Amino acid sequence: MIELRSDTFTLPTPSMIRAMAEAPLGDDVYGEDPTANRLEELAAITLGKEAACFMPSGTMANLTSIMAHAPRGSKVLVGNEADIYIYEAGGASVCGGIVYEPIPTQADGRLLISDLERGFPDDPDDPQFAVPALICLENTHNRCGGAILPQDYLREVREFADTRGIPVHMDGARIFNAAVGAGTPVAEIAQYADSVQFCLSKGLSAPIGSMVVGSAAFIATVRRLRKMLGGGMRQVGVVAAAGILAIDEAAGLAEDHRRARLLAEGMSRLEGIEVALAEVQTNIVMFRVTDPRFTWKTFAAIAHEEGLAVAELGHGRLRAVLHRGLDDTDITKALDIIERILRSS
Ligand SMILES: *Cc1c(COP(=O)(O)O)cnc(C)c1O
Repeated sequence: MIELRSDTFTLPTPSMIRAMAEAPLGDDVYGEDPTANRLEELAAITLGKEAACFMPSGTMANLTSIMAHAPRGSKVLVGNEADIYIYEAGGASVCGGIVYEPIPTQADGRLLISDLERGFPDDPDDPQFAVPALICLENTHNRCGGAILPQDYLREVREFADTRGIPVHMDGARIFNAAVGAGTPVAEIAQYADSVQFCLSKGLSAPIGSMVVGSAAFIATVRRLRKMLGGGMRQVGVVAAAGILAIDEAAGLAEDHRRARLLAEGMSRLEGIEVALAEVQTNIVMFRVTDPRFTWKTFAAIAHEEGLAVAELGHGRLRAVLHRGLDDTDITKALDIIERILRSS
């Protein structure tokens, strides 16, 4: 099977497995796992923040971040196409008593300042309104095809948030894809957000884990919330060891980006497939099937039978995600399979 559904299918590399076997361990709830501590230091330094906290998942990383920033009864301004809004089971409402205010998402992943502006009540002292306490951005943007938010845009949001006196959280599940794709150091991207979460378990190919980074005081709150939610783990260095290598080897994502372009270029030459080539900036290729003999669902099902797995993102959109588990031959094979399906009668 050529697995293009997600970069979460990556397996730990042989050097990660070695590091996991050899990692010095301790009880991390006591703050005594040396490998987890090393990973947290590395994450904080790499993203240019004071402190970091290891998390079992990106979902918990976002949830603890939102809860640390936003009090009960407040609202978070979040894109209506954001992972936080769509795929995280409403955690901030369920656990934090926080209202999500979905903001229209532009095709390139941006939330317009004018739309964010509308999230603020005319009279913030009027007791009937929930008060905005946080802006959440997503970079790269998953459902917008791995789009990288431009640095100028991030600066604008930062300035807007400052005039309104509220923090910015970046769901940077794939922030290293943004850094590699734009050729911008990851800390320069992170500088515009008060907090960032990023996934070690996607293209970076660690088996488990995400990091939250931010100020020391913020991370102390996040750590308490992690414990409350059941995410305090013990000899967690056994997975943190893979996370250290994941960060050290992040530059390797460039290969995934090159292969995403190869795949998208190949697909753009096929009659019956529509792919927005210009929108392929990182490791994600979004496409549609225009051949009337197929629906997007029947196409995905046939591809699966033929040995090619792609993700169904809804409303006719299919997604192919490139990752470390693939090589150039897989791209050729994937294109062959797609071409064969389209040629069949
Ligand atoms: C995968 C993902 C998450 C959640 O991470 P999990 O580890 O799967 O919980 C959050 N945000 C974005 C943009 C993601 O792609």
